[in-house]
Amino acid sequence: MDAVARAHAGFDRFLTDYLKESGLVPSCRAGCFFCCYGWVEASLGEAERALAHAPAEVRARAYAEGRRRARLLARAKDDPRLPERHFLSRTPCPLLEGGRCAVYAARPLACRGVLTDLDPAYCAPGAVRRMPPGKRRRYRARLDPRRHGPEHYLRLPKEEAKRRFFRLLAEEARMRGFTLSGELSVLLYLLQHPPFQKAMEKGPRAVRAYLARRRLLGGAYGVWLRLGSRR
Ligand code: SF4
Ligand code: SF4
Repeated sequence: MDAVARAHAGFDRFLTDYLKESGLVPSCRAGCFFCCYGWVEASLGEAERALAHAPAEVRARAYAEGRRRARLLARAKDDPRLPERHFLSRTPCPLLEGGRCAVYAARPLACRGVLTDLDPAYCAPGAVRRMPPGKRRRYRARLDPRRHGPEHYLRLPKEEAKRRFFRLLAEEARMRGFTLSGELSVLLYLLQHPPFQKAMEKGPRAVRAYLARRRLLGGAYGVWLRLGSRR
């Protein structure tokens, strides 16, 4: 099993234990996908794994949507409201197929860590913001600060997924000398884009130069290059 598959399986074990110990029952079900309108950060290895699991038509959709988002990033990667604007635009993840994740077993840690035990309707883009005062009071009363946050999402799985994501980035960088992190669709586009594939073959300097030329490198929501020394 490679590092990414190990990280995903490790998180799944953590989640099973956490739910058992806490007695919490997630409301998340197949066909429920408001969270797939979100801005998903993934590692290079996670994007490669997702791509390997995606059927051809899903890969093609990811290429087109990722190219669109790459152009958006080139203009707006430092916009602090970018993820929120994206969520409110209700543009689904290109890996969403018929209301289900086409790569469910290979979805990134960021997706695995998003769960709630409360009403899935709360997850709809803008739902919390649009609540009238009475409904908002009832919503807030249902939140347990020990378990929820931000908003109604389960806090611990989200935090644990983030912790494991940074560990995975370090491991990927160690194993191949470098890795990337960035928005999932953008990485899926780059991985299928011949000029970027050539840069990958040449190594991290060429990758950095390519990303800089496309104005995708760094910034608040751009693609980050992380170097590491090979084992
Ligand atoms: S986080 Fe919300 S939208 Fe996503 S699967 Fe769970 S209940 Fe559904
Ligand atoms: S990878 Fe799958 S679970 Fe994650 S946002 Fe895309 S469709 Fe949803």
